[in-house]
Amino acid sequence: MKHIIILGDGMADHPVERLGGKTLLQYANKPYMDMLAKKGKTGRLVTVPDGFHPGSEVANSSIMGYDQNEVYEGRGPLEAASIGYEMSPNDFALRCNIINVNDGIIVTHNGGNLETEDADVLIKYLNEKLASQYPGIVKFITGIQYRHLLIIKGGNKYVDCAPPHDHPNEEWKPLLVKPMEGVDEALLAGNSDKTPAEDVAENGGILSDEYRMSAQQTADLLNELILKSQEILENHPFNVARKERGERMANIIWPWGGGYRPHMLTLSQMYPQIKKGSVISAVDLIRGIGHYAGLRNIIVEGATGLANTNYEGKAAAAIQALKDGDDFVYVHVEASDEAGHDGDLELKLKTIENLDQRLIKPIFDEVSTWDEPVCIAVLPDHPTPVEIRTHVKEPVPFIIYYPGIEPDSVEKYDEVSCVSGGYGMLQLQEFMNAFMAIN
Ligand SMILES: [Zn+2]
Repeated sequence: MKHIIILGDGMADHPVERLGGKTLLQYANKPYMDMLAKKGKTGRLVTVPDGFHPGSEVANSSIMGYDQNEVYEGRGPLEAASIGYEMSPNDFALRCNIINVNDGIIVTHNGGNLETEDADVLIKYLNEKLASQYPGIVKFITGIQYRHLLIIKGGNKYVDCAPPHDHPNEEWKPLLVKPMEGVDEALLAGNSDKTPAEDVAENGGILSDEYRMSAQQTADLLNELILKSQEILENHPFNVARKERGERMANIIWPWGGGYRPHMLTLSQMYPQIKKGSVISAVDLIRGIGHYAGLRNIIVEGATGLANTNYEGKAAAAIQALKDGDDFVYVHVEASDEAGHDGDLELKLKTIENLDQRLIKPIFDEVSTWDEPVCIAVLPDHPTPVEIRTHVKEPVPFIIYYPGIEPDSVEKYDEVSCVSGGYGMLQLQEFMNAFMAIN
């Protein structure tokens, strides 16, 4: 049997007074999800382990069957994978925003709406003027808009970096990088008496594979890069012109979210019945998880991560992947999460109805005509309630359906109905284990 997971990011919600006390899943018109709940078996799932934040990377990776205590490395390494940078074992990869600071204050975390094209020019300039001062150790890589990548060869990940979007209108100097507190001394320590530059010089221009800096050395290096980047970026003609026009400059780098290459088995190693699989998502983090999971990333034209995404294109790509021999497809749709963050009730309802009619319907209608049965799961990764406008750490409702499954008594798909689901409350990897055990 083939397997497909259809994930509506942030789709679960809370009861809303304007909807007569119903949740959005209870209120929305979604005949296919309800039909799958009626014919299939439902339950609830805890997607975020204790000690972790309810981020999409945590929840989606748990749903795919990964133990976060073993694999979690932050978003840097996932974004590295999604932009095609293959990490070495001693790489420390950080998300590197180009942000705007003024008078010592963080004004924006996005460099005043930086376009990828302009950012690429700045990133190249940073490599030329700044990374070149640390040959064999520092490298900047262009990502998307204001979101880029910084690789520190031999960097120590036990450093505390402040996510810039959490600190608007705050002074940035007190937020500079520090060694983590409350971490074992052995993890904070380096493993060489040589400086990184000495090691590079003695090792033919590259850092030796086993070299690891201390957390203090890494923090010092990152802070030096941040401080030096300001002068370099402010003198670049792009920013000089912005300043003359009275616009915000993209005038300092801000690295955060760093980690090592994740120790992830591929899904085929974990579930041998998956010989070939793919992931369909507009979101970097999900594509990155897919990469390390050994899945093929299918890029769908017009897939935006927003409510205007190409639902039909994603459905068609998923059907084609299954036809082309994939045993496992993970279709991720971000739109509901974005509507939740915007607090837009009508839009979020629309994204749920779109997922039902424009993605689940064409997939179900097609695969139900096939000789080889397809097992379908539908679920969100976490709730993003419209009245809270951020992710919350609560269980999510799920459906599993395949032809011939013994249905439970649940007849509708929503947070309340699925409490009575036949699967009960599953924890983390139990979902993927149960899903892949269906053959
Ligand atoms: Zn999410």
